[in-house]
Amino acid sequence: MGLAFKRAIIKLSGEALSGGKGHGLDDKVIENICKSIKEVHELGMGIAIVVGGGNFWRGRSSENIDRPTSDNMGMLGTVINALRLQASLENLGVDTRVQTAITMQAVAEPYIRRKAIRHIEKGRVVIFGAGSGLPFFSTDTTAALRAAEIKADVILLGKTGTDGIYDKDPNKFDDAVKYDRLNYIEIINQGLGIMDSTATSLCMDNDIPVLVFGIDNPENLIRVANGENIGTIVKGD
Ligand code: UDP
Repeated sequence: MGLAFKRAIIKLSGEALSGGKGHGLDDKVIENICKSIKEVHELGMGIAIVVGGGNFWRGRSSENIDRPTSDNMGMLGTVINALRLQASLENLGVDTRVQTAITMQAVAEPYIRRKAIRHIEKGRVVIFGAGSGLPFFSTDTTAALRAAEIKADVILLGKTGTDGIYDKDPNKFDDAVKYDRLNYIEIINQGLGIMDSTATSLCMDNDIPVLVFGIDNPENLIRVANGENIGTIVKGD
């Protein structure tokens, strides 16, 4: 089987880096994810990673801090994850660059769209930290934005605790049914909650397919990159 996509945004939630714990960083889990990223990269797929920060902080989860401040804290959490991923990928010999949407030049490059594309063309894996740089947004929305900007063919949305999109929570209901494919409007109308509505509409407006798959087994990333039909694909009709 050949590569299904030439260029992809891989979206990893913060939780994916924490192993079953939900908080912090799990070295072994991160190494395994990075091994799969390396393998897909070696097959020739152009890769940019958008990483979340929910393993450290979620802006909306605080009642005592105003939302923009809380969201800034969340975005800084994603930078920790970006640097952690960079360290593991470079240990495996993968050339990487971190670009952040909030400028912190002593730590990483600032986000510059044309430079990001150039890095990918040169075979580097680009890791986007600090989300979009804007409060009230999510890293899923950032993935949609960056996918449109760098002309990615797809967003590979790695999820923990599920292997695709179901009509109801498969961890709570035995009769939950998995969708092979959905369109964007169905996600919004049915309130499926796999992505927020801002991210879903940005993907819809820019025709960006989203492939939702389970990252608990990181080798699934290699399968979806090779076009195996193991998750749920979200696209227009
Ligand atoms: N965030 C933000 N703007 C962005 C991206 C993220 O303000 O463009 C903040 C927001 O507070 C969010 C937190 O960073 O809750 C962590 O990101 P997210 O919740 O998307 O991470 P994930 O759930 O994927 O781990």
